[in-house]
Amino acid sequence: MKMLELLPIGSFDVRLLHDVAPALADAFRVPCHILPVRVDPEFAFHPERQQYHSSEILQAIQPYASCAWRVLGVAAVDLYIPILTFVFGEAQMGGPCAVVSFHRLMQEFYGLPQDVDLLIDRLIKESVHEVGHTVDLTHCDDYSCAMAPSHAVEWIDLKQPTLCANCQSRALEGVGQR
Ligand SMILES: [Zn+2]
Ligand SMILES: [Zn+2]
Repeated sequence: MKMLELLPIGSFDVRLLHDVAPALADAFRVPCHILPVRVDPEFAFHPERQQYHSSEILQAIQPYASCAWRVLGVAAVDLYIPILTFVFGEAQMGGPCAVVSFHRLMQEFYGLPQDVDLLIDRLIKESVHEVGHTVDLTHCDDYSCAMAPSHAVEWIDLKQPTLCANCQSRALEGVGQR
């Protein structure tokens, strides 16, 4: 059975993903597995911005999708696309790849004390969001749905780590097409 594969990007403790994988498996009803490899994102670093171009990372992780249902890169580094100051993640609509960053999901980024539980909570929401795009889900008007758009962590904190009933049924149709 093809799986949703989590691909660590950059250097971090992958135990962070141990709660993310079951949440994704639950949301999309597919097994979720953490790949025992790591991608060094230095090729996507742009010194003029001191950030990493998420579209270049998406291209680079394509080969990992050959025997997966979907691949979600989870990046420790700060991501951007040229028209925006940053992105929490980027996905290919309809799949197979997406990337999410937890750099700006950490309280430390905002000068606040570390909160690992809050970080995991935010990472689950944004991971469900990006994988949702890979099954053709668009942004949702329900502010509590994981597919609601978020441009700041305060918006993420308003969301649930799950899809609303409407997005959930559309997502499972997408899963059925695998
Ligand atoms: Zn989105
Ligand atoms: Zn929704």
